[in-house]
Amino acid sequence: MITQPSSYLELSDLDKRSYFHPFTSIADHERTGPWVIQSASGITIKDAEGQEYLDATSGLACVNVGYGREEIARAVYEQTLKLSFFPTFWSTAHEPAIRLADRLIQMTPGDTQRVMFGTSGSDANDTQIKLCWYYNNLLGRPEKKKIIARERAYHGTTIGATSLSGVPGLHKKFDLPIPQVLRTWAPDYLNKASPGMSQREFSKWLAQELDNLIEAEGPDTVAAFINEPVPGSSSGVLVPPTDYFIEIRKVLDKHDVLFIADEVVNGFGRVGAPFASTLYGLEPDLMTLSKGLTSGYIPMSAVVVSNKVWEVVSQASEDVGAFEHGFTNSGHPVCAAAALANLDILERENLFENSAHVGAYLQQCLCDTFADYDAVREIRGIGLFVGIELGDDDVVNQASGEGYPVQIMRECYEAGLIIRASPGNATITLAPPLIITKPEVDLLVERLKLGFDKIFNRSSSHTQGSIA
Ligand code: PLP
Repeated sequence: MITQPSSYLELSDLDKRSYFHPFTSIADHERTGPWVIQSASGITIKDAEGQEYLDATSGLACVNVGYGREEIARAVYEQTLKLSFFPTFWSTAHEPAIRLADRLIQMTPGDTQRVMFGTSGSDANDTQIKLCWYYNNLLGRPEKKKIIARERAYHGTTIGATSLSGVPGLHKKFDLPIPQVLRTWAPDYLNKASPGMSQREFSKWLAQELDNLIEAEGPDTVAAFINEPVPGSSSGVLVPPTDYFIEIRKVLDKHDVLFIADEVVNGFGRVGAPFASTLYGLEPDLMTLSKGLTSGYIPMSAVVVSNKVWEVVSQASEDVGAFEHGFTNSGHPVCAAAALANLDILERENLFENSAHVGAYLQQCLCDTFADYDAVREIRGIGLFVGIELGDDDVVNQASGEGYPVQIMRECYEAGLIIRASPGNATITLAPPLIITKPEVDLLVERLKLGFDKIFNRSSSHTQGSIA
């Protein structure tokens, strides 16, 4: 039984004595205590002190259909009563997982053949690494094992996924990355292209760099290239430059290197299409899905396997025996039921289209509002996935030591808006639920402007908008 502490102070105290928080400074947490969230509905969350916020982050880019959807709650409830758990090891199955696998095969681009389920983006990316290694072992290529990932990438925090991630802070003090991971450039046109270089030329340059890396390592040692098509979490939303994927794919095909699309964030409408792969006409050899798969209502992830990989894995099966990998909760019936209900909502409410349409409106409003702010270097994005890159990130607040993104984020909280700061690349990221409407975008931008104006000492007329 859960005992009900009566006040925020009690909760805070309990938290500080018991909870080891992810991605949190323990020292800071002990000083400040937790921010306790109490409830959420639509695009609004409410904290334990009764303050309401417009959530322009969808949690962690998870809650695509918005908070508090009864349909998902009902699906979870009914499935829990019907079959709360049964494993899917050893040829065992149940209807929700079967139907979900089939639905994902229908939705994903290219000749996709099978789906393996997990519970997090990280575990799914570890499955990807193992699958690439397994595939090359079956093909008699035991040396072809290195995986190329990009600078500033984020692919999760298990041992394999942390190694794929290109954020030094994730590796520090953890004895990572593993040695099989190589690194190539992120498609950061704003900061990495030489002066006068067109987007096409930049894409060719990135592909040439990738080619050079594979040649230097030896093509017989490189198994796969993993990328988030529109990198977000730690890259500040980088829209790929023109022809990027055409050029990269040529290099990968030349060296018989698998293409893994990590669509943990991009997938299920975030970029204004079912998947970024759909949008860019990609046919990945392997895809990683999570977050929007269940809109974060329940943890679930998926690895989608193309025919190229499946043929090898399935044909060798008589000789090698069982595929000895999986998780207790692979294809969990309650998670699968939640995912199916979530997909029904996404499709019925045309949320992929809404993301494209309202996302374009959001970008337009941001450009109109922030065009004359000297600190704003670029506003970019696709669908409801938008980055605002700021200059002068080294101009830090003397007292707090924080750069602009974190300072603005704090002010936005005060104004009732949750945004995400990526201090590593001086960017603010917006990824609101895909149900957001144009009037709600107006309110989002108004509150964002309050945050900016506080930091840049401008006067801001605050009309007391509220979320309907
Ligand atoms: N891949 C990408 C692109 C992500 O953004 C994330 C998390 O944000 C992950 C993988 C890891 O997912 P999880 O935190 O569920 O392990």
